[in-house]
Amino acid sequence: MEDNKLLVCDNIVKHFTVKETFNKTATVHAVEDVSFYIKKGETLGVVGESGCGKTTLGRTILRLHEPTSGRITYDGEVIFDSEKNIKAEMYPYRRKMQIIFQDPSASLDPRMTVAEIVGEALDIHGLYKENRRDRINELLRRVGLNQEHSNRYPHEFSGGQQQRIGIARALAVEPEFIVCDEPISALDVSIQAQIVNMLQDMQEEFGLTYMFIAHDLSVVKHISDRIAVMYLGKMVELVDSKRLYENPLHPYTKSLLSAIPLPDPKLTRSLKRIKLEGEIPSPIHPPKGCRFHERCPYAKDICSEVEPEFREVEDGHFVSCHII
Ligand code: SF4
Repeated sequence: MEDNKLLVCDNIVKHFTVKETFNKTATVHAVEDVSFYIKKGETLGVVGESGCGKTTLGRTILRLHEPTSGRITYDGEVIFDSEKNIKAEMYPYRRKMQIIFQDPSASLDPRMTVAEIVGEALDIHGLYKENRRDRINELLRRVGLNQEHSNRYPHEFSGGQQQRIGIARALAVEPEFIVCDEPISALDVSIQAQIVNMLQDMQEEFGLTYMFIAHDLSVVKHISDRIAVMYLGKMVELVDSKRLYENPLHPYTKSLLSAIPLPDPKLTRSLKRIKLEGEIPSPIHPPKGCRFHERCPYAKDICSEVEPEFREVEDGHFVSCHII
């Protein structure tokens, strides 16, 4: 089982220091003690409201943000371990571990042509030196663009096409693992399914492993094998996709699921609508005990005092809640 795991993250913490007032700094607890693994060839969906730490988590496991503490193992090699002071040189892993960004227009250099954007990744890793142009054309075709697009600039494309360029750039270096950071949330609904289908086809064709980040559970339902739900820097539930939708256990997951519109208004939902009061608290001053207690309809006295442990409550189903 262990060797089937491509990425193993143990107790990942990521804090940022920010200026709170003119002469005072504060600590943002963006990711707090998060542990999980991703198996080869699977898609782990990571879901939560904005500010829950999901994007920071994605970037931290790629070491685009340096973790504050914890341990990251990629394909059996430790690439970060704060206890043993291991910080592996990331250059060889950059090729294997790629990212597709949320906002394609911001992630593509406006002064570079499509061929330069996709070719840059090849040049950095010294790939396809002999047949660089053929490789770029092949990648453009694979993402639904063509050779004629290669000399144009990003602003000449629609949002969906820009995201296809971002995907071609990620694919160029033949990665094994891709963090898809809300890759469709900036796109028109009509385009979203096309991009998701393309990512799924590519996964099958190239044996890719994905971490697919989204703020909405309905988006990750079809693409994810397992889903992790995050709230205010913590992972609160993790289980296979089917069980998450059929038998969510954490009150926060229940509230997210109960808010998804039903496709047919005549259908009655088994899950009562759980409306959360208040806003997600600040990660600078996260609440004591369970971070969700101020908004949880089931909160008890213990919840504001003691932090619940993230534990396996049934085979492969992890939850952090005192009442489960
Ligand atoms: Fe709600 Fe308490 Fe469970 Fe937190 S630990 S989710 S506050 S019941």
